[in-house]
Amino acid sequence: MDLIKLGWNSTFATHHEPWRAKGLIPARVTREDKYTYTILSEHGEQSATLMGKFRYHAKSRGDYPAVGDWVSVRALPDENKALIAAVLPRRGTIMRRAVLAGGPAYGEGRAEEQVLAANVDTTFLVSGLDDNWNLRRIERYLAVAWDSGTNPVIVLNKADTCIDTEAVHAEVEGVAMGMPVICVSALTGVGVTKLRDCLQGVNPTGVFLGSSGVGKSTLINSLLGGKAMLTGAVRDGDSRGRHTTTHRELHQLPEGGVLIDTPGLREIQTWNDEEGTSRAFADINELTARCRFRNCRHDGEPGCGILAALEDGTLDPGRYKNYLRLNHENRKLAQRRGAQSRFKR
Ligand code: GDP
Repeated sequence: MDLIKLGWNSTFATHHEPWRAKGLIPARVTREDKYTYTILSEHGEQSATLMGKFRYHAKSRGDYPAVGDWVSVRALPDENKALIAAVLPRRGTIMRRAVLAGGPAYGEGRAEEQVLAANVDTTFLVSGLDDNWNLRRIERYLAVAWDSGTNPVIVLNKADTCIDTEAVHAEVEGVAMGMPVICVSALTGVGVTKLRDCLQGVNPTGVFLGSSGVGKSTLINSLLGGKAMLTGAVRDGDSRGRHTTTHRELHQLPEGGVLIDTPGLREIQTWNDEEGTSRAFADINELTARCRFRNCRHDGEPGCGILAALEDGTLDPGRYKNYLRLNHENRKLAQRRGAQSRFKR
């Protein structure tokens, strides 16, 4: 197994060094199933669980391994298993606010982060050109991608089902804030090479985000040259020689780098601070800078940049409403997280 082709580099090696000294080896998480993980390491593909100490030290859900994480593990090759001792520091992490249900005893209403993918360079935000695309959802996804510190690419799939792709493309570009917008068809292959070109850097990691059914798996399949299902079907042998087939979420590109599929998301709420929202709505921030009063509330004050833009049609009221909604969510989340951390102490 060539870890470098999987994205291993000198920064991760430095973080792993203390663990290496204790005889542990690095591995990348390819799948997560409720405290059981699938990893790739020098021993190939193995299933892994957490060391007892790990659970003891983990403070929140976000501390647990996620797909794309580099972990330090104690390999048990005879059992074709490994024990995870540590998650190495992440970069480019796609997080969302987890929706906790099940009543107060199970933490309903608590703000918890869920890591959808770790160590990501490029985030493909996929919509379907059949009936799935929605400017407001794309704006929200952009905020999430910016929050994560990754490069967003807006993908409009199923171009073969759309009569006027150019018109949709132009409309989406209006909210893209200069980020690439690419119309593709995973079915016919049109535009797929452009997606490959968006994956820049050495052995990069790309993640696909989008609702269920927009074609994320089909796109990954075509980028892998139709081999995703082949490599995605992992044979896990157990002690009785029985085999089960599981689906891998992290796929290796033949030329180096990986692609991560995420489960279809019905909704996604930002997790980090307001940075992502302010980048996704950079135009609105620019308008507020034009307001005559620095503390303008944009609700009727004279010389308001926002109201002027709404009136002359340069700012879409739907976009402005979405901006307010996302900022409201960010504030609520910050309050809730603040209250939770006070409670912990
Ligand atoms: P996912 O849930 O986002 O992973 O979506 P899938 O990849 O499973 O695709 C959902 C459905 O859309 C499948 O029936 C695909 O065959 C179909 N599909 C995917 N890409 C395209 C495309 O470019 N054009 C058309 N017409 N159908 C597509």
